Order: sequence, then structure tokens, then C-alpha cells
Amino acid sequence: MTYKDLLVRYKRRHKNLVEPNQGFHSLVPELWLAYSMGRKRGYTDLGTYANKPGDHGTWPSHAFDLGRKDRFYNKGWNYLKARRLAKLYVKYHEPLAINYVILGTRIWSRARPYWHPLTTGDTSHMFHVHVSGIYDD
Ligand SMILES: [Zn+2]
Repeated sequence: MTYKDLLVRYKRRHKNLVEPNQGFHSLVPELWLAYSMGRKRGYTDLGTYANKPGDHGTWPSHAFDLGRKDRFYNKGWNYLKARRLAKLYVKYHEPLAINYVILGTRIWSRARPYWHPLTTGDTSHMFHVHVSGIYDD
């Protein structure tokens, strides 16, 4: 499955990409499709650009955060719906140019391509999925 295949499939069903709350220009174009796929699955925008260190802190941002109105019930990895989305991103990480995905206290990355513990101590992912793209510079 290439990026083009995924885009055609998406557009047949949903037509237009979903614009991030902070605008398309707040997120690298390579991630627009991945972001939209999440939004069309019932996820809410918890941010693209943020003035902080890391992948959210570049302009445009190399990352996006998706939540739900129910805030995952704070279950993180144990929330099956969110796990399904996280696994979808991993499945298509290559065509979607995704570098790593965080859910709950687990992370999947290209460097270590299996779900393993997130050891940063950050618990914010108990109610959101974080997706980072690859840097091309
Ligand atoms: Zn994030």
C-alpha cells in the first residue's frame, strides 16, 4: 500500500482532508493524510504546533496529537479503540511517513519497531495518541 493508494482510498470515502485546528500550515504536508484518517475515525484535535521542545515545536509541526471527547477514559494502551488507531498508524508507517507513535505508556518507533515501554514518565498519552513524522532535513 503506497501513500497514493491510501490517499485514493481516503478520498473516495471522505473526499477532503481534514484541516487541523491550527490550520494546514501548522503540520508538515506529509502528515495531513495520517491526521485526517484519525479525525475521520472520531478523534479530536489536541494540537499540532506547540511552542515547546520536540516534534511539536518546529514550524510546521512534525507531530500531531489526537484525543477523543471521552479522553480515552484515561485508559491509555488499555483503551481498545485508541489501540486500534495506533496500530493502524504502525501498519502504514511507511507510506504515511510516520517515525513513531505513542499511546499510554507504550511507544512504537522505526528505531525499535515493536511496542515497548515509554520511559519518559510522561502520562499525558493516557488520553491521547501522539504521532511523529520523519524529518527530511
Ligand atoms: Zn504529541
